[in-house]
Amino acid sequence: MDNLKIVVIGAGIGGLTAGIALTQAGYEVEIYDRVRELRPVGAGISLWPNGVKVLNRLGLGDRMAKIGGIMNRMEYRTKTGELLNTIDLMPLIHEVGQRPYPVARRDLQMMLLEAFPGEVKLDHKCIGVEEDDTGVTAFFENGHKARGDLLVAADGIRSILRTYVLGEEIEPQYGGYINWNGLVPADEELAPQDHWVIYVGDHKRASMMPVAGDRFYFFFDVPLFKGIPANPDTYKTELKEHFAGWAKPIQTLIECFDPYAVARPEIHDVGPIDRYVKGRVALLGDSAHATCPDMGQGGCQAMEDSLVLTNYLMTTNLGVEYALKRYEMERTERANAVVQKARKRAEQIHGKDPTVTQQWYDQLAIEKPTDVTNAITKVITAGPLH
Ligand SMILES: Cc1cc2nc3c(=O)[nH]c(=O)nc-3n(C[C@H](O)[C@H](O)[C@H](O)COP(=O)(O)OP(=O)(O)OC[C@H]3O[C@@H](n4cnc5c(N)ncnc54)[C@H](O)[C@@H]3O)c2cc1C
Repeated sequence: MDNLKIVVIGAGIGGLTAGIALTQAGYEVEIYDRVRELRPVGAGISLWPNGVKVLNRLGLGDRMAKIGGIMNRMEYRTKTGELLNTIDLMPLIHEVGQRPYPVARRDLQMMLLEAFPGEVKLDHKCIGVEEDDTGVTAFFENGHKARGDLLVAADGIRSILRTYVLGEEIEPQYGGYINWNGLVPADEELAPQDHWVIYVGDHKRASMMPVAGDRFYFFFDVPLFKGIPANPDTYKTELKEHFAGWAKPIQTLIECFDPYAVARPEIHDVGPIDRYVKGRVALLGDSAHATCPDMGQGGCQAMEDSLVLTNYLMTTNLGVEYALKRYEMERTERANAVVQKARKRAEQIHGKDPTVTQQWYDQLAIEKPTDVTNAITKVITAGPLH
């Protein structure tokens, strides 16, 4: 279909990637976000090759390679620092044809914003939509209205447009743990600079991976009740307690991060839900399938959504609603499987059943590295650009 006008709600990874893909397809795209200033939520993200390939397809491969960290090896260690397993990532890279790239979220956001040729209209909070036979209208709190042939609802995990699509409100589900994440200067005392290092023990994790600019993206995961007040003044003390007795690099990491530049999300997911589309409105990204980050796939799935949606719109002449239905069929199958798998993995890592977590620790010590890379490869190659 030609000459479509598309309204996108949300300028996160999903909304921006969709905006770029749809504009490149020749459509007129307007992106709206409720915030006054776009700031990334969180410090870093690992983009696996299924996400990176979407960016390559959109002509952003070189720019991505500049901001991505070079990660050649994964290393699992016990909490006291003994090596459990070391996994060469080259077999995976050769199998799927692309490197994964850990990246600082701010760099990724800048890259996507620069690549979107239109304007992102900030301070526009969408409060509802209405459809008729010829299009869809979005209504904003400030009185503005935007009309398009279709609307992409990339409004994140607490999407109000999901309620419109499903006809009921779905509460995100707590994943059972809190995550602290930030950036620190890379230092050999913390980890080798081309490694993704993961310390595991007591159902917790502490991890570092390289991003561009000689920095590590780090995170700590601790299973805790939700609702504990967050206060940067106490992050270091809390983490020193949670990780008391852990290996020296972890203690050094806690010493050196800036707590006021650290994000501390309580991890949630959504779904699986069986509908991503109603009429001319399509959910995309976390609004459809927010995912526990234990597979590093939430943002990658939003990128896949963007490509698949664009392809269906471009390659049919049967109308917008037909294209969106096809998008829904393909993406519910793929992304819902990832949501379920990631939740299972979150439970395995974070001690939902302590026996299962202990089995995972035991397995890490004896697992063949190629078993690990084959499992990751399987997830990546189940995407649209396999
Ligand atoms: C700790 C953590 C680590 C992660 N690690 C990874 C990883 O390694 N790899 C990976 O691929 N993914 C990862 N993810 C997942 C990834 O961050 C998300 O899947 C991705 O950011 C979702 O993008 P989105 O655009 O769908 O939503 P969001 O980034 O949430 O964007 C939604 C946007 O919509 C706007 N908005 C909301 N409501 C309205 C409204 N009513 N009107 C207008 N605008 C509105 C918001 O302001 C926001 O800008 C991680 C997530 C977490 C929490």
